[in-house]
Amino acid sequence: MDSVVGNEISAKTRLLAILGHPVEHSLSPRIHNAALRAQGVDAVYLAFDVTPGELPQAIQGMRAMRVMGANITVPHKQQAAKLVDTLDPVASKVGAINTIVSEDGRLAGYNTDVMGFKAALASVRPDIRDARCLVIGAGGAARAVVAALSQQGAKTIIVANRTESRALQLCEDAAQWGNSECVAHSFNDLTALARDADILVNASSIGMAETIKESPIPVDILTGHHVVVDLVYGPRPTTLVTEAVSRGAVAIDGLEMLLSQAAESYRLWTGKPAPTQIMRASI
Ligand code: NAP
Repeated sequence: MDSVVGNEISAKTRLLAILGHPVEHSLSPRIHNAALRAQGVDAVYLAFDVTPGELPQAIQGMRAMRVMGANITVPHKQQAAKLVDTLDPVASKVGAINTIVSEDGRLAGYNTDVMGFKAALASVRPDIRDARCLVIGAGGAARAVVAALSQQGAKTIIVANRTESRALQLCEDAAQWGNSECVAHSFNDLTALARDADILVNASSIGMAETIKESPIPVDILTGHHVVVDLVYGPRPTTLVTEAVSRGAVAIDGLEMLLSQAAESYRLWTGKPAPTQIMRASI
C-alpha cells in the first residue's frame, strides 16, 4: 500500500466505500478517513446510498473499478454475502457480510460485526453463560449478534422480529452454530419477553435516523437488572439507552461495536493495526 505525505488525492489514490440505504447517518467515513490520514494511507473512504435493487450493479462496479474495499450496511448485509466471490468462514456461517476486501479484482466477504459485538458486550457483561438473551431483529446484524452470543456460551437466545419467518430462519441456522437454544418469536409477546430478559439487544433498525425517538420496547418495563446493548447509534444516545440508564440498567449504544468492527475492517483492507485512539477521537 502506497503512503502519502499530506494526504493529497492523486491518480493513485484508492477508494474505500460504504454501501447502505439510508447511509447519510453513518459515522464510518469519519472514522476511516481519520485513520487513513493518520497512517498516511493513500485511500479515501466515501459513502454511497445504494438501493437494494442497485446492489448487484454497485458490487459489479467495485470489481470493474478495482475499488480497494467496502463496508456493507443496512439493509444489504445478507444480499451482499451472495454477491461476492468468496466468504471467510465466519461470514459464511453467519450468511451476512459487513466488509468486502478486493483481492486482485476478486471480492472477499468478511463479517467483523461478530467480533465487534463481542467486544461491546464484554465491556458491559463479560460472562453471559447464565443469561437469558433477547435479540430484537433478525436481519444481517442480528445474525452476527446471535453468532456471537452463541460463541460466548449463552444458554438461551430469544429472537423476536417483526417478520416472524425471518426469526424462525435465523434460529434454524443458529442450531448449527453452537449449543445455545434459539427460540423465534413475532413481536406479539415482545413486552413480556423483554421484561424477562437479562440481556436485551436491539439489532433492529428501530431508533435509527428519523426514528431516533422510538424504542423497540415499552421503556417502562426496564429495570436495574437489565443489560441493554443497542446496536443503533446516533448523535445522541438512543431513547432505549437513555431510558434504560435512567431506570438503573447498564446500557450502551452502538458506538463501541462500531469502533471495534471498524478497526478490524481497517486491518483487513490495509494490513495495518488500526489506530484505535484516533478512530475513537474522530467521533
Ligand atoms: P437489516 O438487515 O435491514 O435488518 C433490519 C431489521 O430491523 C430487521 O429485523 C427488520 O425487521 C427490523 N426493522 C426495520 N424496520 C422496522 C420497524 N419499523 N419495526 C420493526 N422492525 C423493523 O439491517 P441490519 O444490517 O441488520 O441493521 C440493523 C440495525 O443495526 C441498523 O440500525 C444498523 O445501523 C445497526 N447496526 C449497527 C452496527 C454497529 O456497529 N453499531 C453494526 C451493524 C448494524 P423485518 O425483518 O420485519 O423487516
